[in-house]
Amino acid sequence: MDGRRCKGCGRELTAGDLRYVTKVDIYAAYDQMEIGPQDMEMDHSEEIRQLLYRIKDEDPKQMSDDVYVRFIFDLCKQCKEDFSKRLEDGELLTDEGEAS
Ligand SMILES: [Zn+2]
Repeated sequence: MDGRRCKGCGRELTAGDLRYVTKVDIYAAYDQMEIGPQDMEMDHSEEIRQLLYRIKDEDPKQMSDDVYVRFIFDLCKQCKEDFSKRLEDGELLTDEGEAS
């Protein structure tokens, strides 16, 4: 046994159990990242200096998580169905799913 557990209910998932590998990727979207010829000609040194000053005391892990974070976990069949339904209904982003 490799000690896999359902992230939802905590139940141990044994070899015979149906197991759902669940991946959630959250990443920052930069919609305005097109670089044009004028960007290549501009001097960005002051912009870069200000950016470096702003981030000098930041935690690298937190900065990385601000851009991209991945969750991978196992779910049992029941929790997979509950999780899927909450995703469809948008309940993961509200407290409504906590009721009942
Ligand atoms: Zn479960």
